[in-house]
Amino acid sequence: MTVELTGQVALVTGGSRGIGLGIARALAEAGAKVAVVARDGERAQAAAEGLPGGGHRGYACDVASSEACNALVKRVEDEMGGLDVLVNNAGVTRDNVLVRIKDEDWDAVMDTNLRGAFNLIRAASRGMMKRRSGRIVNVSSVVGITGNRGQANYAASKAGLIGLTKSVAKELASRNVLVNAVAPGYIETDMTHDLPEAARDALMSQIALGRLGRPEDVAPVVRFLAGPGAAYMTGQVLVVDGGMVM
Ligand code: NAP
Repeated sequence: MTVELTGQVALVTGGSRGIGLGIARALAEAGAKVAVVARDGERAQAAAEGLPGGGHRGYACDVASSEACNALVKRVEDEMGGLDVLVNNAGVTRDNVLVRIKDEDWDAVMDTNLRGAFNLIRAASRGMMKRRSGRIVNVSSVVGITGNRGQANYAASKAGLIGLTKSVAKELASRNVLVNAVAPGYIETDMTHDLPEAARDALMSQIALGRLGRPEDVAPVVRFLAGPGAAYMTGQVLVVDGGMVM
């Protein structure tokens, strides 16, 4: 059976677990060969081996390093073929109230969440522009739109991703490279695992659909943005939050 991304190559950062693994699975189900990227290369490889279909590979890369990102894109293109889809999903939190955020907490969050996306967009867009075809999806967050107490660094990085998405969308549109973002709400993963019960209940009361999200709620939206149905969309931010922010 031919599905919409058959024969395409997709790279998903942070694809070893959580939302990224859900996205990698959805793109594999759509027929893509997926390069699963994480700092822990063994876990990335194990995740790649667990995806449906064949031809997936795992790669170790810290997206905060531009040299590592340039080398990664070259290696993936040599081993798997030209990149059709790039999903910048790798992200970290170092939450604290503003006055307690240390320089290294600020830098760690910015370097992975924002610089990491920039590093890979710059590296991957060269080939996409040459081929006059490509899809880039950046995983932002609703807190990049609303802000959040205790997450100044994280919210700033996610708001920055939205500015990056729109700017690059304008720059690359003439080469048929489309750039969009998704902004998930509260999704159950390792990242959100340690939330105290009271905070979880308070959050639930804000979600119109009355439940926390799952990676499987975000993944089909990324699959859509990577596929033919989104051919006339660029520079957009799709919020996937169960109706938390309207
Ligand atoms: P997660 O479960 O903590 O997974 C994070 C993934 O990113 C892992 O695969 C991790 O693997 C990888 N990663 C982290 N730093 C990296 C780096 N420097 N270089 C390469 N890979 C790196 O997180 P998640 O909840 O699935 O979140 C995924 C994305 O969605 C993040 O951008 C997050 O900000 C965003 N998001 C999450 C939620 C939520 O409620 N969960 C809401 C909105 C937005 P290694 O540790 O092996 O590197």
